[in-house]
Amino acid sequence: MPGVKVGAQVRRYCMTGNYVVVGNGCAAMEGIKAARENGYKGSICLVSDLLQPSYNPMLVTYFASGKIDYDMMFPYGNNLDFYQEHDVKLYLGSPVVNLDAEEKSVETAKGFKVYYDKCLVATGSSPVIPPSFHNISDYVYTLRTIDDAVRFRKLLNGEKKKVLVVGASMVGIKAVEALIDKGFDVCLVDFAKYIFPMIAHKNCSLLIQDILEKKDVRLRFGTAVERIEEDDNKVTAYFTDEGPCETADCIIMCAGVKSNMSFLDPEQVELDRGIIVNEYMETSCPDLYAAGDVAQGRDIMTGEQRIIGLWSNGRYQGRTAGMNMAGKRMKYHGTLPHNITHFLEHDFIGIGNILNGDDMYEEIDEENNRYACFVWKDKKLIGINLLNIPEISGLLKNFIVKGLVTKPTADLSALANDNLAMNKMYNKYPRLEKKFLEMR
Ligand SMILES: Cc1cc2nc3c(=O)[nH]c(=O)nc-3n(C[C@H](O)[C@H](O)[C@H](O)COP(=O)(O)OP(=O)(O)OC[C@H]3O[C@@H](n4cnc5c(N)ncnc54)[C@H](O)[C@@H]3O)c2cc1C
Repeated sequence: MPGVKVGAQVRRYCMTGNYVVVGNGCAAMEGIKAARENGYKGSICLVSDLLQPSYNPMLVTYFASGKIDYDMMFPYGNNLDFYQEHDVKLYLGSPVVNLDAEEKSVETAKGFKVYYDKCLVATGSSPVIPPSFHNISDYVYTLRTIDDAVRFRKLLNGEKKKVLVVGASMVGIKAVEALIDKGFDVCLVDFAKYIFPMIAHKNCSLLIQDILEKKDVRLRFGTAVERIEEDDNKVTAYFTDEGPCETADCIIMCAGVKSNMSFLDPEQVELDRGIIVNEYMETSCPDLYAAGDVAQGRDIMTGEQRIIGLWSNGRYQGRTAGMNMAGKRMKYHGTLPHNITHFLEHDFIGIGNILNGDDMYEEIDEENNRYACFVWKDKKLIGINLLNIPEISGLLKNFIVKGLVTKPTADLSALANDNLAMNKMYNKYPRLEKKFLEMR
């Protein structure tokens, strides 16, 4: 195929590539698109560890549980068309093991070295697996890659077993959903005291936990796995609290992710939990950019530099990097932490900071599993939780996904001004309108 080289054919040699993109997720794809759209005509060389075309990690559980077909995991196509259309030289199956920001070169595990004029690092993140789980890796499942999706699908379609899900995260709840839909016996464990501790109010968490318990999911919160023992094709987890141990056939690890940046030298590039970038997605090194889950961008609510591991954030950061690499000065102001998740026929939306307000409005409807919570600090709306509130969820999703990223504002109150959905909310909850007026 013209313009496309596949990693297996690579021998040890050096070449000069004007732009090098490391990684093959949405941040990389959007970076390439933006560079080309903004007039960059030089060569682009993409180096990725995996063999597949760009895929969407958030669809892993949907494919595994049979909700979508294999091809749907590839938003840019399950083929090489995108790379050809954007004239990208492709090196798949070639993990980058070293990036020398002074020499301006990237080196793969196979000893292939490519020099860059500008480089975008978009290597995403990987699930965290604590050392105590390393010697039982055959029993441990992760949910990130295409191979993970295929393996998890095999598990779901096999004999119904006992499964321990570690991590009550958004990924964890997707795993739980897939497992209980297929009739597995599930225990969900997390060190936090409640589900979704970073984004949900405790009262909302309790409602969600109730939904899970009604589906026979055993919940072990406020405790951690202390050690694991393997015996007779099973693993037994012992916990830090007084509670009983859990024996399971396998473990799904959903307890957070870490940025894929071990190939960078911290003496050269400023790193924290991710690669530090400015609003132009520039790192501390000249001509080196970073975007997506590997980059530590700006939380517009707090002004802090942090990783916001969201698909839309990855795309916008990638786009911003590509534009700036092509010479168009463009800022990405950052985004708000937000989670929009649909699980077990329920809709949860968590936006901003729910934990550190000084005033709040709350509605709890236990009978119908409905919950609404608005949190203010210094009269500024800083956080929202909604569980099963269809009157406003569409508007909110739109507001966040389309509006917030393109017209960033740290003030969610804009949402409340004169719109139909809020009026529906006010009709249902008259106290809420009063509260918003009070907070003006
Ligand atoms: C199960 C699951 C559910 C999710 N649900 C949601 C959701 O509901 N909403 C939402 O907004 N987000 C969700 N996310 C997060 C979202 O998928 C990520 O934020 C997004 O994919 C980040 O894109 P990225 O391009 O930065 O990284 P990735 O998509 O991870 O791409 C990184 C790429 O870099 C490659 N790579 C890694 N290391 C190297 C190396 N050393 N050398 C070469 N290549 C390398 C990888 O193979 C990969 O191709 C979910 C994620 C998961 C796993």
